[in-house]
Parts: sequence; structure tokens; C-alpha cells
Amino acid sequence: MRHMAVASPLLTSPPPTVSPFLRQTRSYKRTFIRSSSSASSPMDLHHPKRVVVCGGGVIGVCTAYFLAKSGAAVTLVEKSSVACAASGKAGGFLALDWCDGGPLSSLARASFNLHRSLAQELDGPNSYGYRSLTTLSLTVTESQSSKPSGNSASPSWVDGPGRSPRTIGTTETTAQVHPQLFTRTLISKAAEDYGVDVVIGKLEHLGVDNGRVNSVVLEGGRVIDSDAVVLALGPWCGKFELLSSLFRVYGIKAHSIVLEPKEPEAITPHALFLSYYPSQGGKPLDPEVYPRPTGEVYVCGMSAEAEIPDDPEQIVGNPESIEVLKRVASSVSSHLREGEAQVKAEQACFLPCTDDGVPVIGEVPGVKGCYVATGHNCWGILNGPATGAAVSELVLDGKASIVDLSRFSPARFVGLKKG
Ligand SMILES: Cc1cc2nc3c(=O)[nH]c(=O)nc-3n(C[C@H](O)[C@H](O)[C@H](O)COP(=O)(O)OP(=O)(O)OC[C@H]3O[C@@H](n4cnc5c(N)ncnc54)[C@H](O)[C@@H]3O)c2cc1C
Repeated sequence: MRHMAVASPLLTSPPPTVSPFLRQTRSYKRTFIRSSSSASSPMDLHHPKRVVVCGGGVIGVCTAYFLAKSGAAVTLVEKSSVACAASGKAGGFLALDWCDGGPLSSLARASFNLHRSLAQELDGPNSYGYRSLTTLSLTVTESQSSKPSGNSASPSWVDGPGRSPRTIGTTETTAQVHPQLFTRTLISKAAEDYGVDVVIGKLEHLGVDNGRVNSVVLEGGRVIDSDAVVLALGPWCGKFELLSSLFRVYGIKAHSIVLEPKEPEAITPHALFLSYYPSQGGKPLDPEVYPRPTGEVYVCGMSAEAEIPDDPEQIVGNPESIEVLKRVASSVSSHLREGEAQVKAEQACFLPCTDDGVPVIGEVPGVKGCYVATGHNCWGILNGPATGAAVSELVLDGKASIVDLSRFSPARFVGLKKG
């Protein structure tokens, strides 16, 4: 049984390789002229600070957005396309207080509130499906076939063998976005209104002179000069020696399907966190079901550590895992059964994970002007905005005020890595 304070939006099964933290942890003024007291390389009137953000997932895009809005000259480098990986294939579930009591608490609370203000600023309900939700936990036993009588606490479309529904989030404390639309809306706004330059290219290495970063070098040799660089490459951060020599970032592969029911109006805004008992026995699975305002229903789960392919476009789901998610969907609701719903997507992506289950956000020890923001695990969509705003402050002012970043500093790993 999960509890609000320890639930995550992506519960895994079977998770022998998953850190226990995976389960535990789920208006800025435009100021083109910054004061000369800024801590590192202050911008002046004519030369805004040039920042290259590498990685076009939710973390890189939020960082680029807040940096550019605060007056930096930002280039975003993305290898494939914006939100092509986890940030486009996630659930998009947001919770105010589910990380309370852990290291993510203040980041998550700040970010939940920032999502709310961004939704007002960017017309979130229409642009990217931002809305409040009620969230239920539910036990589903696959071999049972119908809704037990007198089970009025779950919505009428949840007409499978769901038992013991319990409200674990209200419209005050839980919400959702369509993560791909969110990320792409934000980068469009950043490009159109604040001049962010989006470059499709693969970061190869950094130019460093005298211990300070001065450029990024892309595959093919293109050099982009910069005063600061932010590495927001999700699980691909683990492929860069500069980072992997200090700490481990690895990927947990997770699956999802997107269904388009024939009668979308029957599906109410209730997110479901399941304890799912498959008919063949074994440990319960913990998939999640998120109806979206688009009329689609997103179902995810089935995760395990796996090798990350170099190219995000090469990530495909395992057919057996996808089949399980389809069975989950049809057990939850007759509206989601074959014939009643079309399968719009079958996909997989990688959660970016660290060994201590805490994101890594801060300046990389030993390389001035080089920052990292990764390891957001199952809460990257929730924590993207506050991470982006905090990194922007750190890069431009030398210190983040929106969230205390000291707990997330990469410096915590110095001297720990063996071999
Ligand atoms: C199935 C699933 C469901 C989830 N549901 C939720 C949820 O409901 N709520 C929530 O808060 N979180 C959720 N998450 C977690 C969330 O999706 C991630 O934490 C978040 O997307 C990570 O964002 P990122 O920007 O760090 O990484 P990514 O989205 O992986 O982005 C990294 C980007 O870097 C690019 N890149 C890599 N290497 C290079 C290079 N050399 N040069 C240039 N670019 C490069 C990649 O192409 C990619 O676009 C879910 C995750 C999964 C897998």
C-alpha cells in the first residue's frame, strides 16, 4: 500500500535494481541589465551573458526559458528534437506535497506553484492540458471481472474489478500537464519572446580554458562560444566523462501506452495509482492511469534498469511490457478495452536516476561556469520549472533564491567515486 508522502508518479515493477528512493521521492521580471554584483561573469548593458543549455528535455527547456527571460543570450542544443525522450513520453502528473519529508520537498512545492503560474501566463489549460485532478489509489485483481457492488468512491468509468479506492490527492494538491506539449510550448515562447536560439546538434565536448568553460563543441566540429554551459542531458549525462567520473547517472526504462477511447466524455479527471495483481500471480505491479483533457488516456509502468541507446529515437518498448499495460487498461475500464479504445502510442523512455535518488543540480566542481541539472527520476515534469528557475539564478546571480540548491550540489560526490 502506498502513502501520499512516499508515493511516486511512476511506480515500478519488478524493481530489484531500482533504488528505494525511486518510490520515495515523486513572475520573473525581464531584466536585461543585471547588476554588476552578479557573482560570475556579470552581464553588462551590451553583452548579456551567453549561456549554452545542452539537452532539450523539460529540464533544459525550463532552464533556457528562465535564463532567457532574465536577460541571458541563450542557445539550446538538442541532439534530436525537443521533448523527444522522457519529457515527451512521461505522464505529466504533478503533486504539491508527495515529496514532503524528503530532500525534494521544497523543490517540489516551489515547482508545483510555478506550474500554476506558468499555466496562467502561457494559457496552460489550452496550450498543454494543464488541469487539476483528483487522484485515487485502487487495488485491481486481473482475474476478477466486474466492479464490486457498492463501490461508489471510484468514478463510473472505472468499472473493472477495482477495490478499496482511496483519495490520495485532491484538486488542490494534484494536477497534470501534457509533458510534450508543455515542454514544446515553453521552448516556443522562449524562442519567440526571449530570443532563445534552438540548435539541433549533438554535444561532443566542452571547451575549457584555465579551469573555466568557454565553449561547446558539437559533432561535426561546430563551436559555440559561451560564458556558461548547463548540461541537462537527462540519463545521457552519464555518457560524459566529466560527470561520470564524479557520480553515476543511469537510466530506468519505463513503458507507456496512450489510448483514445471512443467515448472520451465518459472519462473524468481522475488519476489512478494501482496495485495490480496479474492473473498469473506474482508480485503486484504498480501502473498508473492518467486521463488527459485531450480525451486520451495514458497508462504507464513496467520498468527496470537498462542500457540507454545513444540515439533517443532508437528507444522502443518491450512487446511483453506493452501487452501488460494493455491488460491493465482493459481491467480498469470497459472504455479502455480493445474495440472501445484505439491505441495511439506504445512507447518507452528512460528515467534519469542517481545512486542516492536525489537530483544533481549545481556547478560542476573543478570547471567554472559549467553547471549540471539531471537525476530527476520520476519527478522531472513536476520539478522542471523550479529547477530551471533556480539554475537560472545560480548561473546569473551566483545563488538560487527560489530553492536552496545545496542539497542537490554535485560537490556532494567529491571523493566518493571508487574506481
Ligand atoms: C514512463 C514515465 C512516466 C513519467 N511520468 C512522470 C510524471 O507523471 N510526472 C513527473 O514529474 N515526471 C514523470 N516522469 C519523469 C520525467 O519524465 C523525467 O524526470 C524528465 O522528463 C527528465 O527530463 P530531462 O530533461 O532531465 O531528460 P530527457 O527528457 O531525457 O531529456 C534529455 C535530452 O537531452 C538530449 N541529449 C542527450 N544527449 C545529448 C547530446 N550529446 N547533445 C545534445 N542533446 C542531447 C536528448 O535527446 C533529450 O532530448 C516520467 C518518466 C517516465 C519514463
